[in-house]
Amino acid sequence: MPGFELFGAEERKEVNEVLETGILMRYGFDGPRKGQWKAKELEAAIQERFGVQHAHLTSSGTAALTTALAALGIGQGDEVIMPAFTFVASFEAVLSVGAIPVLVDVDKTLTLDPQAVAKAIGPKTKCIMPVHMCGSMANLDALMDLATAHGLFLLEDACQSIGGTYKGKHLGAIGHAGTFSFDFVKMITCAEGGVVMTNNKEVWTKADGYTDHGHDHLGIDRGADLHPFIGYNFRISELHAAVGLAQIRKLDDFLVRQKANNLALRKHLESIPEISFREVPAGGVDSCSFLSWFLPTTELTQAVIEAFKAKGILAGHFYWFANNWHYIRKWDHLKLAQSLNRLHPDQVNALLRLSEQDFSSSDAIMGTCVSTAISLVWTPEQIEEKGSQMAECIRTVLKAQA
Ligand SMILES: *Cc1c(COP(=O)(O)O)cnc(C)c1O
Repeated sequence: MPGFELFGAEERKEVNEVLETGILMRYGFDGPRKGQWKAKELEAAIQERFGVQHAHLTSSGTAALTTALAALGIGQGDEVIMPAFTFVASFEAVLSVGAIPVLVDVDKTLTLDPQAVAKAIGPKTKCIMPVHMCGSMANLDALMDLATAHGLFLLEDACQSIGGTYKGKHLGAIGHAGTFSFDFVKMITCAEGGVVMTNNKEVWTKADGYTDHGHDHLGIDRGADLHPFIGYNFRISELHAAVGLAQIRKLDDFLVRQKANNLALRKHLESIPEISFREVPAGGVDSCSFLSWFLPTTELTQAVIEAFKAKGILAGHFYWFANNWHYIRKWDHLKLAQSLNRLHPDQVNALLRLSEQDFSSSDAIMGTCVSTAISLVWTPEQIEEKGSQMAECIRTVLKAQA
């Protein structure tokens, strides 16, 4: 997945162009910046590459989600339906705008189960937030149908699926709004950064102001801007945007390498009949940043993880079921509503109820799933070695437990 693996002269050139002017801010200083507008250039490149009318950069993917929610008008008391398998940022963003995260089960796509979403829709629901985890996607047609039928927004957290597509459209460019993260371990990186994408001009205008203290960016200079609403500072810097600009130009190359490496590794596991793979919805194209595979039971999966550990080959394999960051099971801070700033009682009550909620169908899926991160710089020999070691370990465990 990570674009940082192929950081080089292109990134240095873009950053140096900014350093030579000394104008590190994305707004203003029109004269001294000598024509360098890296953030604007990156936004234009994103619009072009992902086929979306508007893109607005932010300081992180979390800031992009927060901004998108605010720009869609989601706030106090509103419910946002999201998967129980996601990164903590998804619920952080929802809580930060005063809304309530409603966590529901995932299916073998590793993201929202449309039936679980349908059951969770109630009078307070405002938004469905699929999180396209590990490079591939939710069943977006089914979710969009639900959103349309109930008058809800569809906000795609596509932070870790840059480059995946669904029915010919780019993930993140399909819902009412979508977000990418450009943090250090994402498909392309700015070091830190994110983007809100939308085809709705009003949502974009709001995102533009919200991330810069409510500035309308219509004055002859910053001092003359008006503030139609309250905003915050979620700006990206020119230095960060410069890195991203070099990276987006290399994205197609990254994706080709990633796909080839993913398929080569997959071949090793396909030879084991007990292994199945993540479901990709019809019409979807996986970005291939991870190879996600399933074993028949949680016990077997745990035994394989132990065997990988014993062999010293666990690095790069993610057993999300036992991981602190990505699955409801380990989110005690969330389930206990441990927040530094006081949350609204409705938010607290909703979070406390999570402990009693039945996530057994997600447990059955996540308990049997391992995701293997795909490197852009593996050599064919390294893939061969890795794949053989994995397959051998898995076969030994299967034999011992048969
Ligand atoms: C990385 C990520 C985020 C947050 O992005 P940051 O840039 O790290 O704030 C949000 N959602 C998902 C699914 C992510 O993987």
